[in-house]
This record gives sequence, structure tokens and C-alpha cells, in this order.
Amino acid sequence: MKIYRSALLRFADDGTPLYDSDGLLAIAPDAQGQERVVAAGSWQALHAEYAAQANAHILHLPGKLLAPGFVDMHIHYPQTDVLGAPADGLLPWLEHYTFPHEARFHDRSYADGVAEFFLDELLRNGVTTSLTFATSHSASVDAIMAAAQARGMRMLAGKVLQDRHSPDGVRDHTEQGLIDTETLIQRWHGVDRLGYAITPRFAPTSTPEQLRGAGALAAKYPDVWVHSHVSENLDEIRWVRELYPEARSYLDVYQRFGLMRERAVYAHCIWLDDIDRALMRETQTAAAISPTSNLFLSSGYFDYLKADAAGFRYGLASDVGGGMSFSPFRTMQAAYVVGREQHSKQGLSLKPGHLWWQHTAGAAKALGLGGVIGNLQPGCEADMVVINPAYTPLLARKTAQAQTLDELLFAMIVLGDDRLIEQTIISQAK
Ligand SMILES: [Zn+2]
Repeated sequence: MKIYRSALLRFADDGTPLYDSDGLLAIAPDAQGQERVVAAGSWQALHAEYAAQANAHILHLPGKLLAPGFVDMHIHYPQTDVLGAPADGLLPWLEHYTFPHEARFHDRSYADGVAEFFLDELLRNGVTTSLTFATSHSASVDAIMAAAQARGMRMLAGKVLQDRHSPDGVRDHTEQGLIDTETLIQRWHGVDRLGYAITPRFAPTSTPEQLRGAGALAAKYPDVWVHSHVSENLDEIRWVRELYPEARSYLDVYQRFGLMRERAVYAHCIWLDDIDRALMRETQTAAAISPTSNLFLSSGYFDYLKADAAGFRYGLASDVGGGMSFSPFRTMQAAYVVGREQHSKQGLSLKPGHLWWQHTAGAAKALGLGGVIGNLQPGCEADMVVINPAYTPLLARKTAQAQTLDELLFAMIVLGDDRLIEQTIISQAK
């Protein structure tokens, strides 16, 4: 049994942050050999029971904060090299930068190289699970799955379906794309800690036939994820209305094809209306909020108040390469700014603990993995980060002055980046 003695951050079931300045976290393998949290709380309350055991291996981390590994609900690993491309909005950005780059991923060795760099970068930033797009090539899925499996990571990924309005090199064939998807589900879903996501890029780049087939797979494999984009940008919404005039809204296109259910995740969800929001809740579909991407492509702002009023699930995402950073701290900063900007009239400002929850336990819950990842409560897989809250002179000064948990977390959110992450620890399996 491993016993960590450190400041400790975790979350109650209702999302309330729980903090012990002198905490104890006990970790041990379960019956299958996967490391899980056995106990978490104050050192004072737990050390007699756990730290005194003969087999306890104690790791003391003075001055550090142990926290759940971050969960990124929406990212594109093949766009690692598209990050920071200058373009005039979403559709030109796709045409000039993203599609030409993604065309290279038919080559397995090229995809392997990007996948390894991508996972290194996630871990350097403290991200232990992500739901990622691959490209339309099966080789791109094999590359990311094999790389994540070798590292023992919980990773969710899928081949992109896009059989129209896409250039040669990334466009797939309606039927073949669906056959490849099912082959990849059978090859990777549920293998070790890996999960598959049925991944239509977005409604405009799939024919109705392809979306219908994707919906049929989503019904046949109910514990597989569904991953796409919705309601990001007004030009995109106009385009969807021309292509699917029978649908009530952009979101309704996905509903009509059976692509809204638990474990379905849609990036952005900016321009939803109240009927859409109610549908999100009823179907237990989740939104991946991507604030740095929304600012970069000036798409608009996610409406937190209306999302909470409707009661649907959401969490944070980097959306690299439309997003500007792999760092959860940069994403939380941007979510705070977007929340303020969107809700300035109502005076809403997102609480630091809630921002952090959205990128850990809240994101896990939205993915249907609550109690599995994104938290350090007993039973959770032990994916975690060791944070050094004093890595710069300014952070050391600010965090030392923090009187409350909100002050401590907000100092790190506003001033933090990848350098805060001293170590990322992946739950080991036998
Ligand atoms: Zn995206």
C-alpha cells in the first residue's frame, strides 16, 4: 500500500471541493491489479489506521498539493501541430490549416510520432484522460490507442467520420467509414483502460446516410462514446440549416439520427436554445466547454446560467488545435473570463472550486466516468498530479498569503501554467 502525506484536494459528490492541508491518501491495487484510492482525508484522522500498517510505503510531499489528474473533454490530437495557426474563423481555419495537416495521418509512423508527443504534452500539463478526435484514417486511432495503452492511460478516441464537404485525403467513404468504426470498436473499446468514441466531425461533413449509420452503431454499442461538435459558430449554423432543413435546430440533427444519449459529448454548445438545452438534459448528453478555442475563433460564449437552469452535464476542454493551450490552468482562466463576459449583467463569477471541478470530477461525471477518474475519493483510479504551488516567486508569495481554499485555487488558476505540475502519476496496473 502507498501512503501519500501531502496537502490534498478532492471533491464531494455535489462538486464541493474538499481540502486537507495535511492530508493522507492511501492507494492499493484492486482485485484486477489496478491501483485505486483506498482512503483519503486528514493525516490526523487516518494515519493510525493506514500509515502504521506494516506494508505501508509512505511518500511525504511537504509543500506540495496532491490533486486529481485533469480530464480534457474535447481535444484533437492530430491538431497538435495546428495549434496557433492564424485564420479568419472556423471554416477558413479548417480549409487552410486543419484538413491539409490531418491528411498526413494515413501514415501510421507519422501518426505514431504525433501521438507520442501529444501524450507527453498531456502528461506534462497534468492531463491524465482526454476524449480526443483522431483523423478519418484508422491508422490514426491505432497510433493513439497503442501509445496510451503502453502508458497505462485511460484514453478515449475515435476515427473521424466525414464523407462529404471535405477535401481528398481526409474524406472517407460513407459505408467504409462505418465499417472501419465498428472494426476499431471491436479492436480497442474496453481493452485495458481504453474507450472508443463514434466521431462524426460535425453535421455538415457527414451525409444523412453516414449519420444514420453512426446512430445505429451508437445503439448497438451503448457504452461506447459519441463525440462531435455542435453550435459553435453562426456561419456553421446557417450551413447546417441549408443541409438539414427538416431539423428544428443544429442539435436536433444529431437527435434525429440517434446520436444523443449518455456518453454522447458535443463540443461548444454555444448557440443552443432552451428546447435544445432541455433535450441535452433529457438525453443525458454532455457539453464540452472550450473557452480558449471560443475566444481564439471568436465563436461566442457558453451560457453557464442557462446550462445550470436546464440542468445538463458539462465540463471543460482545451479543444487543441482550435484552443490555445494544453494547460488546464489556461482553460480554467479562460472559462472564468468567458463566464464573466457572458454573465456580466447577472453578476455571475465562477467560483475557483467550480472551475477546477469542471476540469476534473465534473468532466468525469459528464463523460459517464464519475467515481472512476477525476477525483481522489475512495474507489477512484489513482490518476493524480503533484502540484508545486510555489514554482515562481509570484505564485509562492500569492499562495503563501491565501487564507481560504478559494484564494489558493484562484491564485493557481490565474497565475498557473504547465510549470505548476511537478509530477503526473498514472494509476498502475499489474
Ligand atoms: Zn474541436
